[in-house]
Amino acid sequence: MGTTQEQEAQPQPQPHVLIFPFPVQGHVNSMLKLAELLCNAGLLVTFLNSDYNHNRLLRLETTDLHARFTRWPGFRFETITDGLPDDHPRSGEYLNDIFDSIKMITKPLFRKMLVSLRRSSDIRPPVTCIIADGIMTFAIDVAEELEIPIISFRTISACSFWAYFCIPKLIEAGELPFKGDEDMDGQITCVPGMESFLRRRDLPSFCRAKDLDDPTLQVVITETQKATRASALILNTFEELEGPILSQIRSHYPNIYTIGPLLALLKCRLSYSSPSISSSLWEEDKSCMSWLDSQPLKSVLYVSFGSLAVVTRDELLEFWYGLVNSRQRFLWAIRPDSIAEKEGNGQIPLELVEGTKERGFMVGWAPQEDVLVHSSVGGFLTHSGWNSTLESVFAGVPMICWPYFADQQTNCRFVSEVWKLGIDMKDRCDRRTVENMVKELMEERREEFMKSADQMAKLARRIEVLFSEQLT
Ligand code: UDP
Repeated sequence: MGTTQEQEAQPQPQPHVLIFPFPVQGHVNSMLKLAELLCNAGLLVTFLNSDYNHNRLLRLETTDLHARFTRWPGFRFETITDGLPDDHPRSGEYLNDIFDSIKMITKPLFRKMLVSLRRSSDIRPPVTCIIADGIMTFAIDVAEELEIPIISFRTISACSFWAYFCIPKLIEAGELPFKGDEDMDGQITCVPGMESFLRRRDLPSFCRAKDLDDPTLQVVITETQKATRASALILNTFEELEGPILSQIRSHYPNIYTIGPLLALLKCRLSYSSPSISSSLWEEDKSCMSWLDSQPLKSVLYVSFGSLAVVTRDELLEFWYGLVNSRQRFLWAIRPDSIAEKEGNGQIPLELVEGTKERGFMVGWAPQEDVLVHSSVGGFLTHSGWNSTLESVFAGVPMICWPYFADQQTNCRFVSEVWKLGIDMKDRCDRRTVENMVKELMEERREEFMKSADQMAKLARRIEVLFSEQLT
């Protein structure tokens, strides 16, 4: 009895969540959305940004960090090094360097920071829970050592997470490693829930490694299994989209929170009148919004390959020819660092310059969430990153998918075969294919794709409907 009273007398520590994303755009975007939702629920949130990304955010005019602090008094940024020099490219083939340096250099600093954050100060109580990016499972080691509860947030789709999870099964079944002579369209039958439609080419890109000792493949296997040690798993998805695959994951990992699309949840929790706060690490070129304003309804194909993909000059030209030859309107966001360096600049053929002037618009970085919900946008040529896919689903915009790496190969099979939201252009990018697929999406099968995209958007926005019903 006495003990209970003593326990009652103990003040409960104020909930204080530390959110730690892998320091690239897509991961930062979705984890910042979660941070805002938790702040909105009254929690204290510390968001751990890499120094490099934080300095970029500070330099940008379109990313108003001040607005974030003003809106959420319980929110604050902390920063930590990612261990790489400022001039490191941090994209394309150099992405693995971030994994290595974070593990080597950031991990001990992270531990040190947590120890100091545990000491209660006058202004900030200690961290009571960590939500760490599920690809940085070293955070689980640190949290276990310091006895702080930890939740993993995997920023990829459930379907690709499940495919990663099944890699050991694929090895056991003799499907991996590829020998080089197999039919890439051949069916894969040992990923439960995907037996009827998954082909070799739809497996996550790491599965194309020729050797099982491939370091990236090994990291994916161990990190995916290790993530199950966290107390729970957060996925940015929703049951109507990935229910059957979520059931598969739940048989190994029961404690899953499906909170997606975070974009929809955040929009309905915050007042619609309050402006959205951008998390872009590149300056958003908003001139494309006025260009979109002057285009006919659903006539524009938006093109973007996200924040990490790098294309060769040949690929760039094939896409460009395909777009111009399709004679459809297009808005293309091409990051300045997205064309492989070695390729040189070279002359752009005049017909492409002319065709773009007539029906196209190009920017270095677009305010993508706003672009996709603009009434002039009727299609999205995407690399099938999970944020881009969900943003397109939310906006009801059908997709042509050209996956670059990792989870994207699997996402785009689901887009085309399971959700019927678009066309899979995987492993091809010749100008004729691009032209034909653009025409197919924007003209020939437009009604069919629009219908299914509309239906899925309604499901993605159901949270908004539920929320507004509660308010009335
Ligand atoms: N994005 C943007 N403007 C652009 C291109 C991309 O705002 O011009 C955003 C996009 O909205 C998405 C993120 O960058 O939220 C990219 O994340 P995704 O998971 O799609 O792909 P990744 O960049 O990780 O490959």
